[in-house]
Amino acid sequence: MRYRRLGRSGLQLSELSLGSWLTFGKQIADGTAEALMKIAYDNGINFFDNAEIYARGESERVMGRILKKMEWPRDTWCVSSKVFFGAGGKLPTQTGLHRKHVVEACHDALKRLQVEHLDLYFCHRPDPDTPISETVWTMHQLIMQGKVMYWGTSEWSASEIAEAHAVAQEHHLLAPVMEQPQYNLFHREKVEKEFAPLYDTVGLGTTIWSPLASGVLSGKHDLEGDVSSRLRMAGLEWLKERELTAQRMAKVKELKEVAEELGLSLPVFAIAWCLRNPHVSTVILGASKTAQLEENLKAVDAQDRFTTEVMDRVEKTLRAMGSSTPG
Ligand code: NDP
Repeated sequence: MRYRRLGRSGLQLSELSLGSWLTFGKQIADGTAEALMKIAYDNGINFFDNAEIYARGESERVMGRILKKMEWPRDTWCVSSKVFFGAGGKLPTQTGLHRKHVVEACHDALKRLQVEHLDLYFCHRPDPDTPISETVWTMHQLIMQGKVMYWGTSEWSASEIAEAHAVAQEHHLLAPVMEQPQYNLFHREKVEKEFAPLYDTVGLGTTIWSPLASGVLSGKHDLEGDVSSRLRMAGLEWLKERELTAQRMAKVKELKEVAEELGLSLPVFAIAWCLRNPHVSTVILGASKTAQLEENLKAVDAQDRFTTEVMDRVEKTLRAMGSSTPG
């Protein structure tokens, strides 16, 4: 494993990390979740990603039980939670980024994860009904209380992140350190263009999600979706519709050829491509099977095969196929 600084902070996260969206407490048995975390930890992964909304709190409960059972020293791993969507309740007091919910959600996540502090705490989406200054003050106070180590955002715009920094600077508060955006071969705009000024000015770190576009970049799907995958799960029809399009399937075919020329499987190729971006602090992996995680871990070494020529070839392949990638 290799490690990178989380933006300008002194915290070093493993280049690959493990997330639990749709899997823990939902798609997979708790025994599989435990096996995944063990493989991750044994291979040097030091960051496990979670959120209050994942399986409505159940994902954090499952992860908390595993962390307790494993008895890994607390100073060898990091765990996150995210606040905004609530853990099931939909009342205005149970969601959003106002002080009441951010504090209560933090306390609930600490209990479910059975930890004394969250290493990373994310505002899962921007909240148009709460002033950004209220959220910045609340996050600062949670850090001062020792309940959170670093705070950040997820799917905020560059201007919202800049506003949070301006508030923090004005009042001498701790500013957001990281953003959690989607980033993969199909989805690049935010990380490569919109956030570009923030890497130098505020030292933004990124913990990127869906490196395989929900498994589409594994190359295993036809247009119906692999029968044992999340894209065929009841209630996730919207995800299949968003991720599995004919245009993408055509691109997957072309990209697979480039990957094969490098001697890499498509998932390893797609994850390694994310790692080639120096503004990516960690790539959060998802897996429903241990074999997937074992395969995807090869991306750390595979990134070395991405010469400038290979990167140019990927650009040409995506452009030739009408990709909306930034120039
Ligand atoms: P990916 O895009 O990598 O999708 C992971 C899924 O792809 C797996 O669960 C599996 O699903 C399939 N897969 C993975 N590896 C392989 C392989 N080698 N071969 C075949 N299929 C494979 O990541 P996620 O979408 O899971 O996102 C990762 C994490 O990011 C989440 O767990 C969460 O922590 C975070 N996240 C954050 C969001 C946010 O808003 N902040 C939003 C979404 C995710 P299957 O077997 O079902 O096909």
